[in-house]
Amino acid sequence: MHEALQVIEEAAPIAKCVGDGYLESMVLSNLGEIQAVLGLTDEAERTLDRAQRIAQEGPYEALASRIAYARGDLALRRNDPRTAIKWLTEAQKALVLSPVETSAVMVSRALYRAYRQLGDASTALAMLEQTRAMELARARRQLQARSEYTLSRVEAEERQRQTLDDAYRVAQESARRANAMERLALQDALTGLANRRALVAHLDRVLERAAVRGQEVAVILIDLDHFKQINDRFGHAVGDRVLQRVAVLLRDRVQPGLVARPGGEEFVIVLENVNATHAVTQCEELRLMVAHHPWHTIAEGLVVTLSAGIASYPYVAPGELLEQADLQMYRAKRMGRNRVSVVP
Ligand code: GH3
Ligand code: MG
Ligand code: MG
Repeated sequence: MHEALQVIEEAAPIAKCVGDGYLESMVLSNLGEIQAVLGLTDEAERTLDRAQRIAQEGPYEALASRIAYARGDLALRRNDPRTAIKWLTEAQKALVLSPVETSAVMVSRALYRAYRQLGDASTALAMLEQTRAMELARARRQLQARSEYTLSRVEAEERQRQTLDDAYRVAQESARRANAMERLALQDALTGLANRRALVAHLDRVLERAAVRGQEVAVILIDLDHFKQINDRFGHAVGDRVLQRVAVLLRDRVQPGLVARPGGEEFVIVLENVNATHAVTQCEELRLMVAHHPWHTIAEGLVVTLSAGIASYPYVAPGELLEQADLQMYRAKRMGRNRVSVVP
């Protein structure tokens, strides 16, 4: 405190030289408070008096309340509660003009001490209650500010979680769509069978495996007979239904094995690990199944037959299987249709 007194005593004339009334008043008020604490009550009285005059000239309301409080505090130290009450009440009035929460509580508490000193128990009690109420209100406001902060943090986290959820859903949806697109890209729209792209990819895989395992692969190429006539006579819609029905019949009968519709009224069947003889037998069964199907349930007088060509790996090279099966299919057409032909 003595060191503080020394420093502030040096600061006082400097503040005066600067010519800033606010600064000078503040420095003097600090000096007065320190003098009061050190028991230099007369000096404190004079210093605070000067500080107060400068503050009133300003007028610097914030300083005015603080100096009035310091004077009240000084009076309390001198056991002069009446003077203390006078200054403290003035401090309270100044605080209305320039409210500072901490100071308001300090002034209120000092007033309580002053009325106690005076022996006015009921006013002292009222002051004490007022102080407590102010402290409570301040604590509540602080708590509320903190809970508002917590709430906004929770809300921010919730928003962030929501954003992540949304992003996850979008990613899932686009993955689902990509899968669907992939499926569509490999599927024939009318029959749901593998399309030409899927057929070529499948055949490559099967032939690779067959080469490694030393197995046979049979490729059957089917073309419906006089399909143009079916369209012409029964309409394109019936033609479509025929293609769909043939697809179901073939797919249900050929297990395991891939059935594809590479285009038009053509179907291709890939039989893995099936020799040529067995493929011919199976193809004959398919031909008869289609020929004997009750097509009249689709349209009165409708008849559907197929011609098929078969080529077998390894007797035919991988790159020529489809072409050779096609040639055999045309041979079956030439021989009168509704029959199966195989590469000799
Ligand atoms: P062939 O016995 O010699 O095979 O005679 P075809 O009439 O079956 O052969 P052609 O190639 O002359 O005609 C095939 C017809 O198949 C022509 C085309 O309009 C029809 N077609 C191709 N794709 C579809 C389809 O998706 N739906 C329908 N309804 N018809 C189709
Ligand atoms: Mg054709
Ligand atoms: Mg045809």
